[in-house]
Amino acid sequence: MTPLAIELVPCLSDNYAYLVRDADAGLTAVVDPSEAPPVRKALAAKGWTLTHILNTHHHFDHTGGNADLKKEFGAEVVGPGKDASRFTGLDTGVDETTGWRFGARGVRVMEIPAHTSSHIAFVVDDIAFTGDTLFAMGCGRLFEGTPAMMWSSLSKLMTLPDATRIFCGHEYTQSNGRFALTLEPGNAALVARMKDVDAARANGRPTIPSTMGLEKKTNPFLRPGSPELRKTLGMESASDVEVFAETRKRKDNF
Ligand code: ZN
Ligand code: FE
Repeated sequence: MTPLAIELVPCLSDNYAYLVRDADAGLTAVVDPSEAPPVRKALAAKGWTLTHILNTHHHFDHTGGNADLKKEFGAEVVGPGKDASRFTGLDTGVDETTGWRFGARGVRVMEIPAHTSSHIAFVVDDIAFTGDTLFAMGCGRLFEGTPAMMWSSLSKLMTLPDATRIFCGHEYTQSNGRFALTLEPGNAALVARMKDVDAARANGRPTIPSTMGLEKKTNPFLRPGSPELRKTLGMESASDVEVFAETRKRKDNF
């Protein structure tokens, strides 16, 4: 099987859509198309025809291109079945029990609520599309869930192998990293990563994809057990959920 090809498509001010190409089956999906024009342009540059639109959640900056792209290519729209009422043009609703298939590949659907109540991740081969739940060095805001719900969703994602490549919904990495450094200034992996991130951004390069292994070492939202982070927060004996909740609260006000 030819490995899937992934193309980053910057959209709006800081969103990423992703083209996913299965060359064997001649299929091309786009994940979270914020808007149609940059996706259309990227498809044309590659000579690919869009067959599928995958949505991690219903927010407009992840679905804004659905209608135009569906109309133009007749692409099938796949998204969280539990949220069908908040999608226009959803063709195939998926969840953890249904999973999905892309060509010859099985795609694992992970239900990871809290940013929205029905947010999902798509996992195929060593690739995870995590939308606005897990960002590079960050996590999404809790619009429709509790800290416990988000901690449970992130813990679920952390069961993926360390080599899993993480493709998230936004280029928030640099500001996320600045926040992370306020909590764990002594985390050598975090300090080293920020050097790479700063260099990439100074050259206009994306910081995506990350890997699960790197996130576990540097993302404060995955590290409520870190003694340094706990010390910074003055929460040495709190539960992981309590530490996560305080970390999220501080990021909201950062
Ligand atoms: Zn969102
Ligand atoms: Fe978003």
